[in-house]
Amino acid sequence: MPETRHGGPLLQIYVIVLFLLTGASAEDEQQPIAQPDFAIYHTKEQILEEVDNIAKANPHIMKVENVEYGDESSDPPYRANMKVVTVEPGGHTRDHSRKIRLLLNYGEHGRELITVEVALRLLQTLADPSAELEMAERWREAGMPDLRATLHNTVFKIIPMENERGREIVEEGALCERKNGRGVDTNRNWEVHWGFKESDYDPSEEFPGEKPFSEPEAAALLALATQFKPHVWMNVHSGMEALFMPYDHLAAIPKGATAQATLEVLEKMNNISCGGRCATGSGGKSVGYLAHGTATDYMYDRLKVPLSLTWEIYGDNDAHFNDCFRMFNPTTREKFDEVVANWANAIFVLLELLPAHPAIPTARNLGRKVEAGGLLPRGALEAVKEAKVERRLGSAMHMSMHSNMTDSARLGEHLFGIPQARKGLIGGVCVVAILSLGLAVMLKGYVTKKRTRRRRLQSV
Ligand SMILES: [Zn+2]
Repeated sequence: MPETRHGGPLLQIYVIVLFLLTGASAEDEQQPIAQPDFAIYHTKEQILEEVDNIAKANPHIMKVENVEYGDESSDPPYRANMKVVTVEPGGHTRDHSRKIRLLLNYGEHGRELITVEVALRLLQTLADPSAELEMAERWREAGMPDLRATLHNTVFKIIPMENERGREIVEEGALCERKNGRGVDTNRNWEVHWGFKESDYDPSEEFPGEKPFSEPEAAALLALATQFKPHVWMNVHSGMEALFMPYDHLAAIPKGATAQATLEVLEKMNNISCGGRCATGSGGKSVGYLAHGTATDYMYDRLKVPLSLTWEIYGDNDAHFNDCFRMFNPTTREKFDEVVANWANAIFVLLELLPAHPAIPTARNLGRKVEAGGLLPRGALEAVKEAKVERRLGSAMHMSMHSNMTDSARLGEHLFGIPQARKGLIGGVCVVAILSLGLAVMLKGYVTKKRTRRRRLQSV
């Protein structure tokens, strides 16, 4: 066996300098870690109180159930509560079988505070939908279905905050926490491809639990969905901007006309509610990362919910990987208001588009007469809103690559300017130093963005 050569002291010094450059540059350029401003955001207790108040003020169309599920076999027992708000804009009915049924879930991950704020705004808007109906009136003139009639035939079940226990941990200061009160990601706890682990699996982010539906939060949602049989399941998250459909655990959307119609709905939603910025399509394909044991895949695959969706409503691509509040939530009042209003209204946009979907009951099949429901006239939507479709997939990664390429190119230019003027030792040292700096910058960019990307992908 030949003797291993370790190089001379110069090489060793070079390696040490390179290491120091990389380490030092990884610490720079970080903004202070953002904290939630509770002058803008509600606390968990304020949210729950406000939900009760809205429902109490509108008893003819809203009612709240306090659902409690527990795992008594664990020591100590683990219990979880969640509020489920039933909203029937046409007035309460006992039989929901002849209505369009939407099951909307917010606050599954504790650190995504903004989603809960959207739920609260949606409840406020449903309590007084006059502004949306006024807007819809203008749309109707452009050939859209009658939102008033659709609302009249719709029943919502809204969970404003699925993961109350996880939210408590976030409010205690663990701003990067997404899991529930005992360290399980409830969006990995569903029995579809459960427990499958990718090579970069990180238990601190996505521990799926000891077995499927071990977690009270997931078990409660399963019971609710099984009984309610929704046409639409919507799981609302943050960390990026995307409108996802199944599958999360495969890099493909399901085959068939229903899935294709769902994709078309999402692409229209992207134009109207996301300025064309949202990634659309299968979660697994669009983020380039597979998630196993998710609620959206289960709802579609096992409970046969035709429109099974995950909306990602906000993300800050430039946030440092430790700066979780900033990464998942707007930090200014202005942006907060914009995101909350936009994504609460997006439900009404969805309701405008639903009658065109083949899995949604037509006016004829619904319990009450729908005056102007039915198929969406071709081109009507485009007449209302002209927007350019622009799919941005993995924008953060692309931006970071672009930025690194620019740095490298600049270094290259710099590099090519030097050698003709100087030859020998000084020139050589300069070239090596510049190459090292370039390598350090690229390594720093790679390490930081890889970690950032990892956490952002955990938004689902
Ligand atoms: Zn999430």
